[in-house]
Amino acid sequence: MVIKEAKFVTSNTRADLCPQTDLPEYAFIGRSNVGKSSLINTLTNRLKLAKTSSFPGKTQLINHFLINDDWYLVDLPGYGWAKVSKESRETWRKMINFYLRNRPNLACVFVLIDSRLPPQKPDLEFMEQLGTMGVPFVLIFTKIDKQSKIKTEANIALFMKTLKETWEEPPMYMTSSSTTKEGREEILQFISDVNRR
Ligand code: GDP
Repeated sequence: MVIKEAKFVTSNTRADLCPQTDLPEYAFIGRSNVGKSSLINTLTNRLKLAKTSSFPGKTQLINHFLINDDWYLVDLPGYGWAKVSKESRETWRKMINFYLRNRPNLACVFVLIDSRLPPQKPDLEFMEQLGTMGVPFVLIFTKIDKQSKIKTEANIALFMKTLKETWEEPPMYMTSSSTTKEGREEILQFISDVNRR
């Protein structure tokens, strides 16, 4: 897919204020620092579409970008900040649950996972939540340039093995690097394919 245009549309905290549209949307989420903003900028070929390295405590917003006047890319606030209060976590949980339940045009959630780490509880819990709600999702293992291919493969194998303990059918996954742009074409192709269905 060629990205001809990527336009910022809205930032807000409520799904009912997100664009009213029939166009499909694809949301990106993951633990803070997983490389979500970098990946969004890589996918769209825009240096600063998504702001990188945001800090805890900053207002957490649902950001909509319109791509090629054809589909929405949604930057969701990340989870897993070590030091945020219980109250902030609860605000995040409510906002995300409300978003996930109230976007009938949501085609897929990309859950970003740091390819260098063993399975992390917040990621596993978030996937459980998606499964309970019946929201389709695909995993993207990020930052694969940071280690050898063998190490990435071993970490992914461990992750999938962990998922098999609770999931009948483990989700599809892809890998990415915002440094080398590996994975970019595959992710965009996936979106193209789902859009054409
Ligand atoms: P976010 O908090 O999930 O939006 O993460 P960011 O995109 O801000 O990335 C967090 C840090 O990881 C930044 O210092 C990025 O430069 C770095 N980073 C993100 N993606 C990659 C990647 O694919 N490869 C490498 N080497 N570094 C990355």
